[in-house]
Amino acid sequence: MANDVLVFVETKDGNASKPGLQALGAGVNLAKALGGNCLALLAGNGLEAAAGSLGALGASKVLLASGEAFSQHSPDALARLIANQAQTSGAQTVLASATSVGKDVMPRAAALMKAALASDIVELKSEGGRAAIVRPVFAGKARITAQSAGPVFATLRPNVFPTPAAGTGSAPVEAVKVAFSLADLKSIVKEVVAGAKGKLDVAEAEVVCSGGRGMKDPAGEGKANWENLEKVARVIGAAVGASRAVVDAGWRGHAEQVGQTGKTVSPKLYIACAISGAIQHLAGMSGSKVIVAINKDAQAPIFKVADYGIVGNVEDVLPALADAFAAAMKQ
Ligand SMILES: Cc1cc2nc3c(=O)[nH]c(=O)nc-3n(C[C@H](O)[C@H](O)[C@H](O)COP(=O)(O)OP(=O)(O)OC[C@H]3O[C@@H](n4cnc5c(N)ncnc54)[C@H](O)[C@@H]3O)c2cc1C
Repeated sequence: MANDVLVFVETKDGNASKPGLQALGAGVNLAKALGGNCLALLAGNGLEAAAGSLGALGASKVLLASGEAFSQHSPDALARLIANQAQTSGAQTVLASATSVGKDVMPRAAALMKAALASDIVELKSEGGRAAIVRPVFAGKARITAQSAGPVFATLRPNVFPTPAAGTGSAPVEAVKVAFSLADLKSIVKEVVAGAKGKLDVAEAEVVCSGGRGMKDPAGEGKANWENLEKVARVIGAAVGASRAVVDAGWRGHAEQVGQTGKTVSPKLYIACAISGAIQHLAGMSGSKVIVAINKDAQAPIFKVADYGIVGNVEDVLPALADAFAAAMKQ
């Protein structure tokens, strides 16, 4: 049905991921506003329990694709699946989260359907009985509301839409048959190298503590600064983020980069340490609920977006902050 909403729900370790659930919640609300149903689409093996739990979160039907083609991550397989289910269901709005997977898969799926793609959406609404999407433009300086004359594929910024609360509903789980196998795919993932176990992803974390160029080289004079930042992050359960200057210098991995060419984060608390606040960095973090900036330059642009500012040297402020947090957590 045209006013149905199809949501590709990402999974992690056999369960719907947090961004996946947020996308589902947004899809359920949009479907209600459009007078349609929300269809949840899951892909992978061993996901029966996860699929069975989505009805309680508002899905009207759960589509579960499993088998050899989904035994490993394949953007090709996922794009074909999503496009195919969009066509079969007739849903005019197809949603996924703007995670690395969503950003990889949704443009491919939209291209297969010759449909519009809207990325990094921060609001969804119904206007004139059709989905309207709101997205930031000009590195977050303005927002546009757009509608598509045809189907629209959209990726939703993580941590902007709430995780839906479980109710008492249930939904049928339908096995999806796909007409392709692993051998038909253009590219096959040969190996997946897992990052450090237990490391929080900046895009999903509720608290992010990021370091900039002023933290200095962790292999040299910045060693103690980064150790102190890691300590602060550990004490308050934050993910460590970084500016592009830090990533370009090879001090931290690209997975931690926040900003226009890195990840977009919307945590409850963002602590920016020795980051100047260039517009490309702000584009990735200005949606944070509370922003704390530590910078020795009182004129640094980061203070314009900060809710709390500490004018000081990270060498002094970070150890004091780590101790204060540790003491507060003990109480
Ligand atoms: C197309 C494009 C895309 C980009 N994408 C991104 C992106 O995704 N993410 C991103 O971050 N940037 C991005 N950039 C780069 C961006 O323009 C800035 O160059 C970068 O954000 C600067 O990083 P920084 O704030 O760490 O370093 P700097 O701008 O050098 O700032 C360092 C700050 O540290 C402070 N400082 C120094 N020493 C101390 C100390 N001891 N204690 C306290 N404070 C101290 C200084 O006062 C200064 O404010 C992009 C640029 C372009 C052109």
